[in-house]
Amino acid sequence: MSDCLFCAIARGDIPGDIVHSDKQSVAFRDIAPVAPVHVLVIPREHYANAADLARQDPALAAHLLTVAASVAEQEAVSADGYRIVTNTGDRAGQSVRHVHLHVLGGRDLAWPPG
Ligand code: AMP
Repeated sequence: MSDCLFCAIARGDIPGDIVHSDKQSVAFRDIAPVAPVHVLVIPREHYANAADLARQDPALAAHLLTVAASVAEQEAVSADGYRIVTNTGDRAGQSVRHVHLHVLGGRDLAWPPG
């Protein structure tokens, strides 16, 4: 999508603090981190949310989870524990309508979230 922020980051048109890149996905640091490790994992192809992605390309959905796990290893939060979050829709606070996995770690994470 031409006016999508995360499509622009995936294309390299808008800079991102990239921590992982492959043919299908990109991972970059969140611009407003809420934890010491806060990385967003996105597909290069545009899907509005996790449900659309899972229905249309389940293999790509699985790939994003694998990348999230690799990022957690790379960021050294895998052993202590980390969280993967994907917000869907207004009431969940989804502000960017290009599916993304938040990978959060590096501090104690409250559950249930507020
Ligand atoms: P969500 O609210 O779940 O849609 O998450 C969108 C996330 O994108 C938020 O945590 C924002 O801080 C983050 N974000 C917005 N713009 C950028 C950007 N240019 N680079 C990195 N992260 C961004």
